[in-house]
Amino acid sequence: MPRKFQMKNHVKTIGDLMVRKVIAVSPDATVAEAARLISANEIGCVAVVEKKKGKKLIGIISERDITVKLAAKKRSPTRTKVKKIMSTKLFTVNMEDSLVKVAGMMHKHHIRHIPVVDKENMIVGILSIRDLLTRIEANLRTLVKERTRDLNVDALTGLYNYRFFNNYLEAEIVRSARHGHHLSLLFVDIDRFKVFNDTFGHARGDILLKEIADLLKAKDTPKTAQRKVEFSSRKSDIPVRVGGDEFILILPETSKEGALFCAERLRQAVEQRLFLGKTGQAKQHVTISIGVAEFPLDATNKKDLVDKADAALYQAKQLGRNRVYVYA
Ligand code: GH3
Ligand code: MG
Repeated sequence: MPRKFQMKNHVKTIGDLMVRKVIAVSPDATVAEAARLISANEIGCVAVVEKKKGKKLIGIISERDITVKLAAKKRSPTRTKVKKIMSTKLFTVNMEDSLVKVAGMMHKHHIRHIPVVDKENMIVGILSIRDLLTRIEANLRTLVKERTRDLNVDALTGLYNYRFFNNYLEAEIVRSARHGHHLSLLFVDIDRFKVFNDTFGHARGDILLKEIADLLKAKDTPKTAQRKVEFSSRKSDIPVRVGGDEFILILPETSKEGALFCAERLRQAVEQRLFLGKTGQAKQHVTISIGVAEFPLDATNKKDLVDKADAALYQAKQLGRNRVYVYA
């Protein structure tokens, strides 16, 4: 069920990004004064406002204006007034404008700094193209990261999905072969899940899938503190939801014996647990069946290993469910 793609933690509008502190000078101030403000505040430009007209924005003076225009006309910064060299052909943007729209506009008109104005056309901030582009780049990086995550993670349970499993297992087998390690797979399937869905409804079925998934995720609970048989996978183990009510636990550097031990603990943990569903719903016991296969003992490539674990799961079901079957 592909989740609708959402951008998280993104700065989306100019209002989120602009520098709110507006440094301003009067049009009658000297260029030297404007330059001092630019340098002292480490900003690229200052706004030029007419104090008498309620701080109305009348221009902008940037580092570039100062260097290029003063140099061209060989004027003295201490004797030239801001109004002589400020840029008055003003483009402005609103706080609600999108980053991409503003970047396009600044690029088109070769603008490096742009005033941000409110609804009354009063200046509320200044935005530089450098800050804007840096932010757009950061947004893109986040986007790629989120997209990659969405492609590899099951939306319902938060476990890795089949796509991830396929790529990861391939790489893990190569790694195991190179280092002479064992690698085991547990194929896990809920027993009679259709009946569970039919009895309690699909929504409660979804909650059960999430509860099983949570059990498969690694936890740091010390075993001595657990009264019942609790299952706790290792940090290096990779839990996957392959689809429907099927899960896989990849156990790197684990032999068949270790995998059997792990599978049996998992089976017992599920068997003993009461699955709660939502408050007010009857608590429910559930069981799972598990098939185990090992690389390189049972198979020497990915496809074969998956087939063997699947065959072992089939046997576990055939033999009456709620059991672990190790491929032999
Ligand atoms: P068996 O013991 O042989 O595994 O019996 P089973 O009823 O569990 O059979 P099977 O594994 O083939 O059934 C899987 C069921 O899982 C079928 C489908 O209705 C249900 N299912 C698949 N995906 C979802 C899901 O995302 N949410 C819920 N609630 N049910 C799902
Ligand atoms: Mg099932």
